[in-house]
Amino acid sequence: MKLASRLPTLAKSGTATPIEAIAAERHIEVQRQPLRVDAVLKETASGYVATINSESPLVRQRFSLAHEIGHVELFGATGLAQALRHISGEVISRTNEAREVEHLCDAFAAELLMPLKEWRSVLFKDGLSLPLLKALSERYKVSFDAASNRVMETAVRKCAIVLWECDWRGDAFKGGHAMRVWANIGLPVGSLGEYEIAPRSFRAIEGLRSGEGVTSIPSRIYLRCGEEEVDYYGEWMMYRGNPTRLVSLMIAERAGFALIRQGNRSVKERAERR
Ligand SMILES: [Zn+2]
Repeated sequence: MKLASRLPTLAKSGTATPIEAIAAERHIEVQRQPLRVDAVLKETASGYVATINSESPLVRQRFSLAHEIGHVELFGATGLAQALRHISGEVISRTNEAREVEHLCDAFAAELLMPLKEWRSVLFKDGLSLPLLKALSERYKVSFDAASNRVMETAVRKCAIVLWECDWRGDAFKGGHAMRVWANIGLPVGSLGEYEIAPRSFRAIEGLRSGEGVTSIPSRIYLRCGEEEVDYYGEWMMYRGNPTRLVSLMIAERAGFALIRQGNRSVKERAERR
């Protein structure tokens, strides 16, 4: 994206983008206070004030600020009044145009915080895995959601990432329902609430809990949606060390092993070495 490439004079590759410094360079003063929305941008005599919701997680605050920088940059680059319409006191109209501006500023924020070229090359070199996704979200200081979105946009891998809400009785796994899905492959047609972890996956998941120091477990992932059950190569990981929140990575293998293999750390190879 051209807009974001105008900016990263301050950003070092492979690290979290210094979003506050970039805002300062753009004459955007940053304030924080509890808000009902993610952020509010106001024009001042000398530039802008971006007020960020202090009750949001820090990674979300960073994304919100990057989004607001996007509005300022879009206005600077195009002179489009629409780019700043929602800061001039007008009620945001739910027009296609307003939505388009919002999407553009989200895309800008994603590129500013997670440069596509860098992410693509890391994912291509190391091979997508859940521990890598976690490491990337920590290194770049972005949320797991934002990182998962970005992985889909890199198109390095045909895959799906699912966040599950799970039930346990003691050490026995009792099942899970999908809370979020990111996918660039076809999954069974159904609503989010219909996706369940099929019982054939339960034992692998129980291993994740008992395995000391194990952060992820390569496994076949069995997903059920109504009557239909599908399975993929993939791996399981606890989300923020919380066993009631699991993440699964599912990799398409239509083209066989060649498609799964990537770099020297493929999920399949690691599965076989265990
Ligand atoms: Zn906006």
